[in-house]
Amino acid sequence: MVIDRRRYARVVVLTGAGVSAASGLRTYRGPGGVWEEHDVERLGHVSALTERPADVWRLFGGLRQSVLAARPNPAHDALARWQAELAQGQELLLVTQNVDGLHQMAGSRNVCEIHGNVLHSRCGSPDCTLAQFRDEDPHTSAVPSCPLCRTAVRPDVVLFGEELPALPSWTAKRALRDCDLFLAIGTSGSVAPASSYVRGAEYAGARTVYINLEPMKDPNPAFQEVYIGRAEELLPQLLGM
Ligand SMILES: [Zn+2]
Repeated sequence: MVIDRRRYARVVVLTGAGVSAASGLRTYRGPGGVWEEHDVERLGHVSALTERPADVWRLFGGLRQSVLAARPNPAHDALARWQAELAQGQELLLVTQNVDGLHQMAGSRNVCEIHGNVLHSRCGSPDCTLAQFRDEDPHTSAVPSCPLCRTAVRPDVVLFGEELPALPSWTAKRALRDCDLFLAIGTSGSVAPASSYVRGAEYAGARTVYINLEPMKDPNPAFQEVYIGRAEELLPQLLGM
């Protein structure tokens, strides 16, 4: 065991695509990434919602179907167990860039989804009062419309050209201010959000740990420890599970 879980009172964990790879979900970028098969620049961009909404749904509806068929792996399970085994006075905020909801399926609570959730839909109009809702329909044959205002309904994920939702980002940054342990797992350590989160954690005096399949291309000195390997193998080992 490398990380003695009893020693830390305020933990922040950031997860990215590498955590879901073992669940059969392809990463967005890189070889075999889901985006390679589509025109990322256009379909993943916010402008496609109005210009090519049916194509947007073909992309995210397909991802929705993959997500519905996926199951959590030992990396998700280890994080859920860590949360479940926290002692009184200990806190762990789980922040994820993943839109697959697998942390929740593994049993994690209060997951901070900074890029949204592909299993949720919402009205495309910012002025509409329709609440975001769980939606398992891939909508690959027809674009759904809002029952209140008839605007096209969209997947509740952050697209290129869009701001991150304010509340989850604020929650994460607030937790980093007084954390004593920060882990970034399965995500790039040299670009945002991990690069800015680790600076916040470093400023708070926290222990900072990076876990990923590949080393950082531009090593980020704010990470004190780097572990290279599969998240589903390394994480249970490091946490002594
Ligand atoms: Zn609406």
